[in-house]
Amino acid sequence: MNEELKEIKIRARMMPGAVTYDGFLGNDKRSLSEIIAADNKELERFNRYVEEIADRMKYFTDATFDVFDNKVVIDDIYEVESTSSKGNLSCPYGHGGLFRKYETTLTNRKNNITVKWTAMTIHLIEAHHFFGGKGSHYRYEPETLLKALFTEAERKK
Ligand SMILES: [Zn+2]
Repeated sequence: MNEELKEIKIRARMMPGAVTYDGFLGNDKRSLSEIIAADNKELERFNRYVEEIADRMKYFTDATFDVFDNKVVIDDIYEVESTSSKGNLSCPYGHGGLFRKYETTLTNRKNNITVKWTAMTIHLIEAHHFFGGKGSHYRYEPETLLKALFTEAERKK
């Protein structure tokens, strides 16, 4: 399959109502490779890798799964909560495997930034370097994510 055709198929699965109600593209008209390249450039600016962001999200989500009411405060800074719902999602890139439907909400007490993500958000960032189209439900600018997920000291490296 050529790249153009591949992208058309993936984009179709990212549209509202295909895999999720809201879809993954928001009102972004750029191609997937343009979106990914722009975010990648942003990460480079902060000297960070997608794996670090994905690992950090997994760490926070796992911490909520370990406690009774799925609510936890970590390091006195991060208020984290997960809610799960029935069902599962498949990757719009056509990966096998289904992802649990949960949503994690994190608020950073130091800067009051709140971000939310799902298992799918983490997978798209980690495996596809895709943060979502502008205006889509779970999209945050890489800078916002970094500010929410890491302390200022940790961000300077
Ligand atoms: Zn995938």
